[in-house]
This record gives sequence, structure tokens and C-alpha cells, in this order.
Amino acid sequence: MLIRPLLDILFPPLCHICKTFIPDAGDIHLCAGCREKLVPVDSPLCPVCGVSFATGSGIDHLCGACLSHSPSYTAARAAYAFGGPVQELVHRFKYGHKVHLCRPLALLTATHLAGFAAQAAADMVIPVPLHKKRLRWRGYNQAVLLGGVLAKEWRLPLVRRNLCRVRWTEPQVSLAAAERVQNVRGAFAVTDAASVAGRRVILVDDVFTTGSTVEECARTLKRAGAEAVFVVTAARAV
Ligand SMILES: [Zn+2]
Ligand SMILES: [Zn+2]
Repeated sequence: MLIRPLLDILFPPLCHICKTFIPDAGDIHLCAGCREKLVPVDSPLCPVCGVSFATGSGIDHLCGACLSHSPSYTAARAAYAFGGPVQELVHRFKYGHKVHLCRPLALLTATHLAGFAAQAAADMVIPVPLHKKRLRWRGYNQAVLLGGVLAKEWRLPLVRRNLCRVRWTEPQVSLAAAERVQNVRGAFAVTDAASVAGRRVILVDDVFTTGSTVEECARTLKRAGAEAVFVVTAARAV
């Protein structure tokens, strides 16, 4: 194949983060140095909400929050701790209109959470929806783009228009944890309950912060009859 070497001369593959040349970039385009700075979310963690425990040793166990109140979703997992190169990728992807960065983020997530996705035995991937107004401003929904790659990698259908945002909400970023719960209460609706009834859903978002948005989405899906909701995010605030 002559095309690849020619393309590499015309468009040398560079690391998305530090812009160094990567001779064998593959699909993800992150150099070895930047990859080393990624912090995967690994055990020991809470098997429900997926929070990882700082101890770094021991077995998975329920966290205090899940013990006192179990979420509507069955389980949530994030691929990487939100910080370093992952934070930079997410910010440029979400706020900097660098739409192409959905691919490295989603491929890293697909690989790291392949076992979780397989165990979920899901019927479909549903992205966390944006309100129409915010979609107009941003031009794209980052969760739809991530979900599209994940659905393809995991060979599941991507269902985009069933779960909708029916109420405008303030950006969660500016709010405290308790306010976030109130802010998204009743913000979502399922338009076609029959197509989620009795089904297992993988719900996709970019970052899990307090979990109030995915909790409200999961609650809405469960009320529409979904059998189980599994949350997948590229990153998790630590
Ligand atoms: Zn790099
Ligand atoms: Zn938990």
C-alpha cells in the first residue's frame, strides 16, 4: 500500500495532546508519553456507581451513597479519571468544536469498558440528550458522537431520538450537588416507551460528575419500562 506512507508525509500523524509525530499512530493518535498520563478508573470501586476508592487495594464494595440510596441505573462505569490529557480532550471536544476528538475518547472508552459492555448484554445505546436550544448553540451533541462510536464498536444500535430533553436546564457545571438533582428533575421524557420496555440500555455521556444527569435519565427510562440501564462515560470527576 503506497497510499498510507504518502498520507503520512502530507498529513503526518501527530499526538492530539502534545503534537509530537507518531510513526505508528493507529486509530487513537495519542503518543506513548501522553497515554501514560491517562488514569484509568479501576478496582477497587463501587460496583453500582463506579466510584473508585483511593486506597488502591482491596475488593470492590458498595460506597456509602449507594448503600443509603440505590440509584435508578444498575451500574455506572467511566473509563478514565477526569484530569490531565482526558480533561484536555474532553474540553476541546465539547467546548472547542474539535469534533474529531470524539474518536480517540470513544475508542479508549470502548476498549477500557468492553468487559462492562459485554456483561451488560444491552439491546441499545442511548446518548444523554441535549436541549434543542443548546444543540443549536453547540452544533452537535457530544454524547451522540461518543455513543455512535461506542455503538459501532460494541455492535449495538444507537437510539438517538427516543430519550428527549423536554425542559431547559441551567448548565450543571455551575451548580452544587444538591442543586444539580433539582435542576434536572423532570427534564427528560421517553417518546416511544414500547421500544425501551423490557430492554437493557447503555446510557452514554461524556463525563460523570455527581451522576445527577444520568440518574434522572435512568429514572425516566426505567419509568418507561426499561429493564436495566447501564451508564458509560469517557471520564469521571475524582
Ligand atoms: Zn503526546
Ligand atoms: Zn456507589
